[in-house]
Amino acid sequence: MTQQKPLALVTGASRGIGAAIALRLARDGFHVAINYSTHEKKAREILEVIVQNGGTGVLCGFDVSKPDQVDEKFETLAKNNGTLAVLVNNAGITIDSLLLRLKNEDLDQILSIDLKGSIYCTRAAAKLMIKARQGSIIHISSVVGESGNAGQSAYAAAKAGLIGFSKSIAKELGSRQIRVNVVTPGFITTEMTETLTDAQKEAILRSVPLGFLGAPEDVSSLVAFLASPASRYITGQVIGVNGGMYM
Ligand code: NAP
Repeated sequence: MTQQKPLALVTGASRGIGAAIALRLARDGFHVAINYSTHEKKAREILEVIVQNGGTGVLCGFDVSKPDQVDEKFETLAKNNGTLAVLVNNAGITIDSLLLRLKNEDLDQILSIDLKGSIYCTRAAAKLMIKARQGSIIHISSVVGESGNAGQSAYAAAKAGLIGFSKSIAKELGSRQIRVNVVTPGFITTEMTETLTDAQKEAILRSVPLGFLGAPEDVSSLVAFLASPASRYITGQVIGVNGGMYM
């Protein structure tokens, strides 16, 4: 173990919101483990930007929905990079479908990555953080986990599940000074929202009091706060970054 900075692992950090979180945490002085599932090249590009800006990090590829991979990677990561201070459970997918057309395999995939993946990672992180008696775990849920959305019932179920999970774990781990919070983004411009038509984007904008779509950095600035000691008395909370579209 050569580096002395606190270690932060961001799942799904090869693109979009996760990449912005990785860049921000590196800027804030964390040694950042950049997780990805398939896009190693993109993850490597994020690491290169971190290093160019004077930060440090490491690539950490694994599929969050595979518990054996998760356990092994967390152990190796801690062995080589020191105690895990921050976990950001950001990796996620959407497969939109009306309920009557919802395929079993799509439901399984969404729950396996968006909900169970975060649970596997949190369990592996908790083992490390309990020993250190400190840590901050941040889940990236979604506004639709709070409000619901036609055509996204499975995704909303996974994202709402994260909220109940997070509050339970906040109660279980509070006495060890491990904080657990949920961030619920609204519509943020990334590859995930690129597929929306102009008409869909206009409809969304009508429901956003601030009148514009968010950027990944709007989410990463809140995550940075929740990862820092400035939020030391905040746990079990659900905090929206949604331009006011859900209050
Ligand atoms: P994105 O651009 O589609 O990126 C998804 C990230 O998740 C990628 O880094 C991807 O890795 C990773 N990933 C997917 N499956 C994985 C798996 N099985 N194991 C490990 N990593 C996996 O998504 P985004 O828009 O940035 O969204 C990030 C998070 O914010 C998601 O949880 C999403 O539900 C939530 N969110 C987004 C919005 C929005 O408007 N964009 C709104 C609310 C909530 P690879 O590149 O290797 O595939």
